[in-house]
Amino acid sequence: MTARRVHSHLRQLVAVLQETYPDAHCALNFTTSLELLIATILSAQCTDVRVNSVTPTLFRKYRTAADYVAAAPEELAKDIQSTGFYRQKAHTIQRCCEALLQQHNGAVPDTMVALMQLPGVGRKTANVVLGNALHRPQGIAVDTHVQRLAQRLGLTTARTPDKIEQALLELVPRKTWTLFSHLLISHGRAICKARVPQCGVCPVHHLCPSAPREGHG
Ligand code: SF4
Repeated sequence: MTARRVHSHLRQLVAVLQETYPDAHCALNFTTSLELLIATILSAQCTDVRVNSVTPTLFRKYRTAADYVAAAPEELAKDIQSTGFYRQKAHTIQRCCEALLQQHNGAVPDTMVALMQLPGVGRKTANVVLGNALHRPQGIAVDTHVQRLAQRLGLTTARTPDKIEQALLELVPRKTWTLFSHLLISHGRAICKARVPQCGVCPVHHLCPSAPREGHG
């Protein structure tokens, strides 16, 4: 597909997905950038629903980076137990909050470079926090849904999250970066599922090179 056609497809794709998922937004509950940073760390290998079931109590108990650092490791681990890998996650949260205290006076920084220097924070987490809590998008968060859909929709042939993100950044207008990730995640959860995509009821099948065509099964 030529670059011009990809751009045109992309515009149509975003329009249809926006119509289909008008409420697409960050599925993790939070009220501050620190809360979203912690929730995103907890979401590794865990559903957003499960994270959301733990965070109301957690966020009431730990309000600042200093609160997490001061906690006994086993107590923090217990508080996040149901999200899985809780000892490792507790350790990561405490190291991350230590760095926030030492380097940023306890505040969550608002640049990609500074965020990625925090222990436990990779590009995806940084993108989630920058786009949703700080409203300063500097990239597109690529999770497994975004990765799979970008490939199926023919937006890129890249295979790694970093390369997929770079390809999407070239195509997607900056003001749509954060929303684009939510739209693909919504569509990935609802219809373009990992094992069996429901192409027969897909609202963007006419824009998708992976859709089965008539006469081709
Ligand atoms: Fe996914 Fe099928 Fe829709 Fe393409 S047509 S986006 S593969 S569900």
